[in-house]
Formats: sequence, structure tokens, C-alpha cells
Amino acid sequence: MSSVERTTESPWWRRAALALSRWFDTTGTDTTGADAAGGDDRAIDWLRVVPFLGMHVMCLGVFFVGVSPFALWTALALYAVRMFAITGFYHRYFSHRAFRTSRALQFAFALVGAASVQRGPLWWAAHHRNHHRHADTEHDPHSPRRLGFWRSHVGWFLTRRGFRTDFDRIPDLARYPELRLLDRYDVFVPIALATGLFVLGGWLERHHPASGTSAAQLLIWGFFVSTVVLFHATVTINSLAHRYGTRRFDTDDDSRNNVWLALITFGEGWHNNHHHFPGSARQGFAWWEFDLTYCGLRALAAMGLVWDLKPVPAGLRRVTR
Ligand SMILES: [Zn+2]
Ligand SMILES: [Zn+2]
Repeated sequence: MSSVERTTESPWWRRAALALSRWFDTTGTDTTGADAAGGDDRAIDWLRVVPFLGMHVMCLGVFFVGVSPFALWTALALYAVRMFAITGFYHRYFSHRAFRTSRALQFAFALVGAASVQRGPLWWAAHHRNHHRHADTEHDPHSPRRLGFWRSHVGWFLTRRGFRTDFDRIPDLARYPELRLLDRYDVFVPIALATGLFVLGGWLERHHPASGTSAAQLLIWGFFVSTVVLFHATVTINSLAHRYGTRRFDTDDDSRNNVWLALITFGEGWHNNHHHFPGSARQGFAWWEFDLTYCGLRALAAMGLVWDLKPVPAGLRRVTR
């Protein structure tokens, strides 16, 4: 009997306990992460998504904790570092294998990516590979053509189906036990980051009051505001970059190139380019298509930390429309 069939008969309190346990242990004994709650697996799992909603509510703390240059710079720095981990590693490395690196650096950037509260690298890459495989068809996990703005932006991954990881898509990643462990307990990474910011803010308030910050202020700005903005910027590529912008290539999907999205996501907004040739480490194909992630990857390559950055084949740069 499958886990889904088994819990179709579960009482409500058991389903609630399972949802709460998945706040911390995303997959439990079922490696796919199916929450086995029964019912419509496209429905939003409201109990399980309470922490996600809570992160948004916590941003209202900005009205109570004040602000300081130190807190703002911390928020900006954490946005930049984690955005690079998402775009350079969760996306271009784990999802598309657009370059190579060592096992140590692979894990280091998996950890930084996990601090973004966008789940672990296996879950992220599995969904993203399904997106490319089925882009803007009924099997695409987050196509705005089928789902509309809100579902393609946030709704899709708050569902029971969205919480699962399709391990058939990621055998190359699942063979690393450290990545599987991180994927299962990814939430402890952002919890550690938030705790660290709270402790640092408290220490600065006591020993360096000129910094103008405090425990609560650094937690609200450095963690909650930075993470929520980072999250919404990232998922504009699912929602807005399949709706607004220009199409250089006549791909089978609705992907667009959008300079504003490229700026806030460090190059991911050249999304029509990316759907045309997903295997490249570079998404800005033209010289003027600024791709900060690619600049960062080039810098890591110059230091010998990553290598074999895959280029765009010359023949594929030609405009097809
Ligand atoms: Zn896309
Ligand atoms: Zn992609």
C-alpha cells in the first residue's frame, strides 16, 4: 500500500502532526517528501506553509525595530550572496550542470543556497528540470499560462504536490549523501543564520553601540526582509519572465528576456536565451546583456574553484525570429 493510500484514512490530528514534523524534516521516511495527507494534492497545505507566511508577517517588524546602515548593508550583502548561490549553483550548476566544481565547493554553495529558504538543492533542481522538460505545458510545475500569476509565483510550491521531490529527475545529485541530508533538513540552515544575526546584533548593541543596530533589528532586516525580497525576486523568473519581455528566440514556451528581472536576479532575466540553450553557464548572450552571475562564475574560475564553464555554441546565438 502506498503512503498516499495509507494516510487517506488518517485522522486529522495525525495529518496535522505530519505537517508540523515536515517543518523540520522535509521528507521523513518517505524520501519523496509526499506529505501523504490524502485529498487533492494541488490544494495548498495551509498548516505546512505557516512558517512561509510567518516570514512575511515578521517583515512588519521594520516598524518596531528601527533601521541602521549596518542592518541595511547586512540585508543587501545577504541578498547578494544568497542570490548568487541560487542562480550560480542551485540553477546553473545543480539544475543544468553548466560547469564543474569540487565536491567541497558544491556542498558549500548548497549550504549558502539552503540559507535562502528555497528548500534544498535536490528539491530545487528536480522541479526546475521538470520546468524545462515541460515548459508551459500542463506538466510544467509553475507555468503562468496555465496557473496565472499567483499560482506560478508562489502557489505552486505550497501544495502537497509541490512539496515532493521527483527523484527520477536528479539521480546525478541524489548519489551524494551530504546533499540528501541537507535536502531533508534544509530548514536548520536558515535557522542558524537567523540565530547568528540575532546574537551578532545583540553583541554589537552592547559592545559597539555606535553601530546603531540591535538583536531584533539585525534579525528583522538581515534575515526576514532580505530573505523575503530574495525569495520574491527569484520566483519572478517563474511568473513574470514567462509573461513580460521580448523573445529573441522562437522557443516552444513563453519565456522572455527582461532587463529589469535580469538586474534583480543577477542575469536570470535573460530567460528566453536560457530556454533556447539551458546548458550554458552564461545567460546574457549579447555583450550588453549584463549577467552578474556569469561574472561571478568567471571570477571563481579565475581562482580555480570552478571550471569547464559551458559556452553558448556560436550557431545557437543566431536569432530565430
Ligand atoms: Zn522558464
Ligand atoms: Zn533553467
